[in-house]
Amino acid sequence: MRLARRLAHVAPSSTLAVKQAAADLRARGRSVIDFGPGEPDFPTPAHIVEAAKAALDRGETHYSAGAGLPELRQALAEGLSRRGDTPLEASNVVVTCGGKSAILYALLALLDEGDEVLLPAPCWVSFPEQVRLAGGRPVLLPTLAEGGFQPDLEQLEAALTPRTRMIVVNSPSNPTGAILEDRLWDALAEVALRHDLTVLSDETYLDFVYDGRAAASALSRAAAFGHRLVVVGSFSKTYAMTGWRVGYACADPRLVQAMVTLQSQDTTHPTLFAQHGALAALQGPGEALAAMTSEYAARRRLILEEMATVPGFRCAPPDGAFYLFPDVREAMARTGCADDAELALRLLREAGVAVVAGSAFAGPGHVRLSYAVSRDEIRAGAGRIRTWVREAGQ
Ligand code: GLU
Repeated sequence: MRLARRLAHVAPSSTLAVKQAAADLRARGRSVIDFGPGEPDFPTPAHIVEAAKAALDRGETHYSAGAGLPELRQALAEGLSRRGDTPLEASNVVVTCGGKSAILYALLALLDEGDEVLLPAPCWVSFPEQVRLAGGRPVLLPTLAEGGFQPDLEQLEAALTPRTRMIVVNSPSNPTGAILEDRLWDALAEVALRHDLTVLSDETYLDFVYDGRAAASALSRAAAFGHRLVVVGSFSKTYAMTGWRVGYACADPRLVQAMVTLQSQDTTHPTLFAQHGALAALQGPGEALAAMTSEYAARRRLILEEMATVPGFRCAPPDGAFYLFPDVREAMARTGCADDAELALRLLREAGVAVVAGSAFAGPGHVRLSYAVSRDEIRAGAGRIRTWVREAGQ
């Protein structure tokens, strides 16, 4: 079969591939502890589920507005206005099928063939692939654990070419948990203005911060960015709604319109009753989110404690999100693994623990563990890794 050339350069999502590999092993009767995909293990809060059910009962099962439910766009605009220095309106918001579609539409709307997108790395697995899918060229800007995974401005300026159109940032970061330093937001706004670039800020993990840290939204500099900013968010992580597929982007109304055009030729709009659930998530009590965040904080402490005793895993405490991104080069050497992909594969097959290889995030020599799993699984999974490294390293 002859497939289109564009697929030769687009890899399937590695996070979803790990989830599938773990599920396949379980189906064959193996016990697997899954630190793979970043997927909250909490049930979606009841008031959100009830709102979607009520929408179904009311017959909200037909086509709706292409940019998203008007009340939901309005509620998002109000919530996002509180993050920033500029009031936003419903016309600044498009509701999409998860944050992934929002990012893809923004790239499709802004990139021409061969345009370059700067990506501070390690970065989320889907950023480079979606850039390629949109005809662009991802340009990775490696950042270092020793520097807190903060982008280096000189390196960023040196990577700019006449084809550079966008910079994609993600704070707190998936996979490192790093929070972008405040001064960098000012610098990014200044660079965007000077070189007429658009900054896409993926703020999926903005609510998940620890140890008294806070993560600023790019919207805190919305006035400085002007039309050169797209902020993307998702209900998946914040409200444990991964399967609902509701996300959004916030941008200049002209860009929002372009994204709505793309959506009109793709999914039409996210599932209507799922959008009613998302509206209830925004309007409902905040206790569920607060409870989940405090549980993640406890799990973060626990996984740091547990993994500290695994030989060859060096774990820096992440400031946000719900991932640990240990440097495993020493563990690779001990166990005779050629790279992080082999280490991840052997952990799955030999220890029954799913993790994602760091190279999938352009962070070789690392693996990513999601701690959006129960405390018991964290203890058991870390125990399995510890035993495996000791035994395989003998
Ligand atoms: N974003 C999550 C992750 O990084 C969920 C899976 C995906 O869409 O990548 O694991």
